[in-house]
Amino acid sequence: MSDTIGQSNNRPTRPAWLEVNLGQLAENFRLIRADAPDGLAIGSVVKDAAYGHGAVEVARVALDQGAESLLVSNLDEAAELRDAGITAPVLLMGERMESELPACLELGLTLAIGNAPIAEAASRLAQAREQHLRVHAKIDTGMGRYGARWDVALGLVEKIATLPGLQLDGMFSHFSMSDELDKSFAHEQLGRFRAACASVEQAGLAVGCRHLCNSGGFLDLPEAHFDMVRIGLLPLGVFPSQVCRRIEGIEPVGTLKTRLAVVRDIRKGDNVGYGLRYRAPGDRRLGVLPLGYGDGYPRVRNEGHVLVHGKRAPIIGANAMDSTMVDLTDIPEAAAWDEVVLMGRQGDCEITAHDLAAWKGTVSYEVLTAWRSRLPRIHLDAAAD
Ligand SMILES: *Cc1c(COP(=O)(O)O)cnc(C)c1O
Repeated sequence: MSDTIGQSNNRPTRPAWLEVNLGQLAENFRLIRADAPDGLAIGSVVKDAAYGHGAVEVARVALDQGAESLLVSNLDEAAELRDAGITAPVLLMGERMESELPACLELGLTLAIGNAPIAEAASRLAQAREQHLRVHAKIDTGMGRYGARWDVALGLVEKIATLPGLQLDGMFSHFSMSDELDKSFAHEQLGRFRAACASVEQAGLAVGCRHLCNSGGFLDLPEAHFDMVRIGLLPLGVFPSQVCRRIEGIEPVGTLKTRLAVVRDIRKGDNVGYGLRYRAPGDRRLGVLPLGYGDGYPRVRNEGHVLVHGKRAPIIGANAMDSTMVDLTDIPEAAAWDEVVLMGRQGDCEITAHDLAAWKGTVSYEVLTAWRSRLPRIHLDAAAD
């Protein structure tokens, strides 16, 4: 067991933390590998600290389980992997400033390139240093974000392929809607990507690794797998939507826990929390949790619940930056400093990232990435499970 907050002192960690089960993570990668067709490369997306679970820890498990490459969005995220001694291919997605290029070269990163000026700047630098920069051409097939529009993709790919110092290693695009029931736009994007790949091949250029799918595409669009998939959410045990295909045995890796800081009785008519949002309808037992929206928990008012002794305890009142109150009246065995689960499983009950997303009015991705750094991360390795 280790925690990423790096307790070099002997102070106890606060009683609120994100537990990351690396054994389950390994199992999820095994199940994904078993589900994937032979020869399909797995790219593990570990941007934003692997959606809050710890980039280095998740990356190591991914590589152990046969992932071929890692993908991140920012130079600092790539540097963190290299600083940890990870030598696997790292593809830096998104757009680069010219001033970032020297570090990309020094760290041995593979660059996503979506336009000619940055390709030319990268080429000049690589030539000056007598080195090569690996590049994946980024094609916009309908996301409307990064990359060259699909109908002019050939021009960009030709440029990258012919500029000295650049090595064309791949070509990719990104779905804007892959995990919903309606796959019509995903198929439109797939058609555009296929056409772009075909035009490049007809021009006699070796495309390298072609990739289009995120987690939703991996699950539901096998015809779009190409050579690699880029998956971030699914290995963490969270399905991208309620309607996408399920893989039996994949379970969430992260559990958000805290402890009951206070357990006490309140009287009929007593108020709880900011703004007088709750007034006890009778004598109740109150529990106070030492975390709130300042930790990334949704800001809720008399909505949602937590798990105590395997039972659901409703949230009462409006929670605060550092505290959340729950009704323990129906859980008489609850005592101060008992463990509480806010996301994850306890006994037979489970609170999913999708449940929290509904209370927060957002998506599961934002629930995971919203857990703040002041919540220590406790990594359980496979043996500790
Ligand atoms: C974040 C991201 C992914 C991973 O998406 P998941 O749905 O988490 O699998 C893949 N590709 C790109 C370009 C991304 O930005």
